Amino acid sequence: MNFFQDLKQVFEKGVEQVGNQSPLVKELARLSGLLKGKKESIQDSYNRLGQLVYKEWEKKQKIEITDEIRELLKSIQDVERQATKLANQVDSLKSSVDHIDQKQQPIPTNSPLNSSPSLANLSPKTPDAILYLCPFCAHQVKEDASVCPNCQVRFY
Ligand SMILES: [Zn+2]
Repeated sequence: MNFFQDLKQVFEKGVEQVGNQSPLVKELARLSGLLKGKKESIQDSYNRLGQLVYKEWEKKQKIEITDEIRELLKSIQDVERQATKLANQVDSLKSSVDHIDQKQQPIPTNSPLNSSPSLANLSPKTPDAILYLCPFCAHQVKEDASVCPNCQVRFY
């Protein structure tokens, strides 16, 4: 067995693992990716918007909504709406996936360990709990997390 055979085996194993994912999980990953793209595009638009507004202000020392700015505002609104739709799809898919997970791994209801922070925070019964959400995929993350466990984006 040489290095390249090893590498090939590792590669095939990886493909196999992806192939074993349920279609639901794959769809969830696809939608999360799309949503992430939308959010990045919104951020880009905000940057351009800031530049345009500044340039206008620099010229006239007052802010005027030019056609260019208006178009950009409309396009941000458009992408925001698409992102909201996607986020809703992702949420409903996530709850389906969670539902399946819970069926496969029943959580004991009489255990004191049941009050784990993740479950408690996901419950609508604890509205005063502080939620830390990933700015890219809105997945719940730990307060001190530096990387989103869902989309792997690093925070700064
Ligand atoms: Zn994330």
